[in-house]
Amino acid sequence: LTSYRGRHVVVLGLARSGVAAAKLFHNVGADVVVNDKKERDQCPEADELTALGISVVCGHHPDGLVTKDTALLVKNPGIPYTAPPIIEALRLGVEVVSEVEIAGHLSPAPLIGITGSNGKTTTTTLTGVLLEAADLKPLVAGNIGRPLSEASLEVEEDGWLVAELSSFQLKGTSDFRPRIACLLNVAETHLDYHGSMEDYVGSKAKLFKNQTQDDIAIYNEDDETCRRLAQSFKGRKFPFSVTQTLDVGIMIDPPYADIRPADDEAELERWIVSREPGGALRRILRVDELGIPGRHNAANALAAIAIALSAGADPQRLAEPLREFRGVEHRLEYVGTFGGVKFYNDSKATNPMATTMSILSLPSPLILIAGGLDRGSDYMELLPVFRDRLKGLAAIGETREKLGRVASLSGLSRVKIVEPVEDAEQTLRQAVLEAAAMAEPGDIVLLSPACASWDMFPSYEARGRIFKQSAHTL
Ligand code: ADP
Repeated sequence: LTSYRGRHVVVLGLARSGVAAAKLFHNVGADVVVNDKKERDQCPEADELTALGISVVCGHHPDGLVTKDTALLVKNPGIPYTAPPIIEALRLGVEVVSEVEIAGHLSPAPLIGITGSNGKTTTTTLTGVLLEAADLKPLVAGNIGRPLSEASLEVEEDGWLVAELSSFQLKGTSDFRPRIACLLNVAETHLDYHGSMEDYVGSKAKLFKNQTQDDIAIYNEDDETCRRLAQSFKGRKFPFSVTQTLDVGIMIDPPYADIRPADDEAELERWIVSREPGGALRRILRVDELGIPGRHNAANALAAIAIALSAGADPQRLAEPLREFRGVEHRLEYVGTFGGVKFYNDSKATNPMATTMSILSLPSPLILIAGGLDRGSDYMELLPVFRDRLKGLAAIGETREKLGRVASLSGLSRVKIVEPVEDAEQTLRQAVLEAAAMAEPGDIVLLSPACASWDMFPSYEARGRIFKQSAHTL
């Protein structure tokens, strides 16, 4: 980083990662300008940076922000590549990176990078728990919370920097090289930002791009796109599967059949096993001992165990934390039983694949509350689970009509399109009331929107909290 002393660095986007990056470059003596098109009064971080002597421009992108003398542009992952300063930087040949790239250069500890369309936060959190239990000194950061570059200054040399990475962050990397990289799955999502599936998949694949044979590449053998990408992985491959037996890797034994619902198979004694290159099988624990429910979570657990084993964890020490880990808020979170009906909050399910997995993880019949921001996903993907597992649907948000149509096509008779009222909270409360009215004791009401929340709420967390409050006040 010291090579940036005295050079011009632009930080685009004044959120936590931008603040972390601006400070790092300022500290090595770079001439840093931070820019955000939000108004200054919406940038609470601006004062702190100004006080340090860093120049901050809010409210617009000024002309001449990026020049041919700019050494680097660090962008917030959420800013699209069509933003004028980025177009200008690319035109001038200025390097454009995301903040995680810097962490890769700074971290004294090896990196673990975890990405995928779904399950990132669950897997990353569990990985942290497992490494902690094995005394491997993990520090968890990235897309999950604190900026990775900030964490890279604190991680111990003999520890691990565990990074949750989004496709947006990965798109802005160039030399990033995790010692252990993990790809969970690839679903059609975020196409509005990436423009095409190819760009999205390409961004995920960048996690493995700089790996060599000394590194480890963990991937989902059940996912067609992961399998295809794995053909060009250079690291030592460590596949995982919940549906098949592998020659080498980590899997479920006996495997899950493809579409049979989870609850029909409860009597089977399934084990999580890993097979070493020599062919020896090692049992780790029974699947039904896992503290997190559902087949998708079994896959997340396999990924986290594969990472922990790769990092040198003693397998004996993994069983107990795997039993105790109960998951993360807003991910198939059990809310409570009201009037004999169980409520689950899965507000983080922001695409059809996530919602499908969650529906399959719970016993039916289910009453689903879904809908939100319309990102142009293919909601027809939901038709089979709507047909086989739902009893009713209450649809909200921009996609309410689209989801209503899928439900009608699936033959569902109880479908309620909840028209928005001005107050989004009220709309969601209404949906909860409609869902509760369709439910009988023993049923389940699940909020699993298959869509992002921003058409109605500031975040999926806000949406999940209002759902939980509404359920509690029934
Ligand atoms: P991410 O961080 O990638 O958004 P989370 O761990 O927060 O993932 O989980 C988000 C939602 O995705 C969960 O609520 C669940 O519905 C679904 N999900 C979790 N893991 C998987 C998986 N392995 N495959 C498919 N869907 C999953």
